[in-house]
Amino acid sequence: MTGVQDFSGGQSAILREIGVPVFWRLRSRAQQPETAPPPALATEAGLAQVAAPATALNPAPAPAVRTPAAPPEAAARPAPVPSAAPSALAAPAQAAQASAWDDGPAAPATPAAPALSAPAPSSAAPETDQRAQAIAQMDWLQLEQAVRTCRACPLGKGRTQAVFGVGDRQAQWLLVGEGPGRTEDALGEPFVGKSGKLLDNMLAALQLARGRNVYIANIVKCRPTDARGNDRAPTEFEAAACRPFLQRQISLLQPRVMLALGKTAAISLLQLDAQTPVSGLRARVHQFTLSGQGGSIPLVATYHPAYLLRSPTEKAKAWADLCLATQQMARPEPA
Ligand code: SF4
Repeated sequence: MTGVQDFSGGQSAILREIGVPVFWRLRSRAQQPETAPPPALATEAGLAQVAAPATALNPAPAPAVRTPAAPPEAAARPAPVPSAAPSALAAPAQAAQASAWDDGPAAPATPAAPALSAPAPSSAAPETDQRAQAIAQMDWLQLEQAVRTCRACPLGKGRTQAVFGVGDRQAQWLLVGEGPGRTEDALGEPFVGKSGKLLDNMLAALQLARGRNVYIANIVKCRPTDARGNDRAPTEFEAAACRPFLQRQISLLQPRVMLALGKTAAISLLQLDAQTPVSGLRARVHQFTLSGQGGSIPLVATYHPAYLLRSPTEKAKAWADLCLATQQMARPEPA
């Protein structure tokens, strides 16, 4: 592991201020590298069945994603290995994003109000073998078009637009959040607004940026809302309905490291009990296994940026998680 002296410029400033505050202080989005979301895509024939309403779907368990054609080899990019996690923070508290619905040990409980979109029972797996297999064969263009026209779960009715994902499609890093919030739904890009700026600063601390060796996606592609129109976490049903899309994104990307942002993302990716506290998930390396494929991808769970905005003293723990993930990236690629 490298030490303080290995960092230069802004990174030295980070470490002088115990690593986190300088880089994770909110900065203007204009200072960050921008990657525009992909343009609208031509309609692909035969995608209607992929976007079939949930009511028409077989409640059988989600089938394995077929092994896809080998993706293009990601260019080798040296990853910085940050020093050990800082022990304290000096960052001023940031106002929480009004629509943030992230979890964490200090986060308020998710309101129990019923969702506007009336999620279906979580026990039903909203897909058929045929649908999942069709998705598992798609290329990026087909996949994005299928997501944009999807109505496989109730979230498709209430969205402004689906939020497919953004970033480098040959990235070694994959960051996964829970789902689009109000701003993401309006703009069509994951992690925008204050939490998005914080995430950009977290990436900058690792000399990364969205669109440069990083891809960002969500568990669900459409915004979940409660009865009052506020953001909420996706249900298990919604996550299961959208899982083939995320699985195909992962299959196409073949990332070297995955970072789950928030409890909902971690639990869904690792298929764990919903009551698992995020504190029991972070600070260790999990293994994500893609259905139908051999091998596994190291996965580190950490706090959602929206939670870090509400609880800035937890940034040190998140920084430690990023260091852990970076150490995984620094390991030799499997033969
Ligand atoms: Fe389809 Fe996923 Fe949107 Fe549900 S959340 S409608 S499964 S794209």
